[in-house]
Amino acid sequence: MTSATAGSLTAADQHLVDGVLAGRRRALAKTITLVESTHSDHQRRARQVLAALLPHTGRTIRVGISGSPGAGKSTFIESLGIYLIEAGKRVAVLAVDPSSSVSGGSILGDKTRMELLCQRDEAFIRPSPSAGSLGGVADKTREAMLVCEAAGFDVIIVETVGVGQSETTVAGMVDVFVLLQLPNAGDDLQAIKKGIVEIADLIVFNKADIDERAAAFARGQMKAALTMLRSASPNWRPPVLTVSALAKRGIAEFWAEIERYQSTLTATGEFDEKRRRQSVDWMWSLIDSGLRRYFRSHHGVRSALPDLSRDVAEGRTTPGAAASRLLAYLKH
Ligand code: GDP
Repeated sequence: MTSATAGSLTAADQHLVDGVLAGRRRALAKTITLVESTHSDHQRRARQVLAALLPHTGRTIRVGISGSPGAGKSTFIESLGIYLIEAGKRVAVLAVDPSSSVSGGSILGDKTRMELLCQRDEAFIRPSPSAGSLGGVADKTREAMLVCEAAGFDVIIVETVGVGQSETTVAGMVDVFVLLQLPNAGDDLQAIKKGIVEIADLIVFNKADIDERAAAFARGQMKAALTMLRSASPNWRPPVLTVSALAKRGIAEFWAEIERYQSTLTATGEFDEKRRRQSVDWMWSLIDSGLRRYFRSHHGVRSALPDLSRDVAEGRTTPGAAASRLLAYLKH
């Protein structure tokens, strides 16, 4: 047997682990802060803490929710969260928001969102980590997800806004991926064009209270479009629902579909298989980013890179020859 734990936990870190396992919010928040830190000593401690928490993870359902700004994500998550809490569940909400690292301000992170849910002891809401690339933000969110699972949350919601690759990234870390749409053309057409409809396990048209007929029409259109797309599982055709997050209509029906998804794919073995695949993909994405970091910090690479880049830019060397010379440094 190999163990992922490199060394034993310090007393302080053991205290954090115990606190997380006992569901204490302060320990949970501190552990996520440790996990999000880019300090190398913190990262080493975070790896040990995560290794200790790992056996206590996985007994949840991980739901990704994506939609354009204004689609009603936070209103929907708040209504869903309260519904789940009333059904006796504990809910954690995490966010993947790569825009925060680009613009310095976050689309998803502002504190006034989900005010009612914030006040509930059964809920834990964590804004997107603010530093780094999409890959970096996503890795931190995956780790935060494990910490929340070990703390005993039953449902993990990962929210994202349609920026760049964020939908695909979130779809790759959750069990079920939900696309929240508005019932006006444009929005759904965009999603079809961007290939996001293809990765959705469930599509929801929100704000049905504004115009029931428009919502029903959009639903019909989307269902027709879906018949032309290949679904991810032969055993699951993505349902299309209409809801009103504000009027709290359709929330129970939505959750019933999530449960049906879980039971259908558990019966075929696809549910566990998807998690296994996601874990291995995650390992590879960490290897890729680790290699890139190692490569860029390598002494030989750093000294040869400026000249070789100039040679490539000015056509004196082919990109292939330059890459091969730079990669050769890794063998020394
Ligand atoms: P987000 O940017 O996707 O998180 O969207 P928000 O949840 O902040 O919602 C944007 C606006 O739409 C807010 O003013 C909400 O009150 C409103 N909204 C959200 N859901 C509904 C709904 O079901 N019906 C109506 N009429 N308005 C809604």
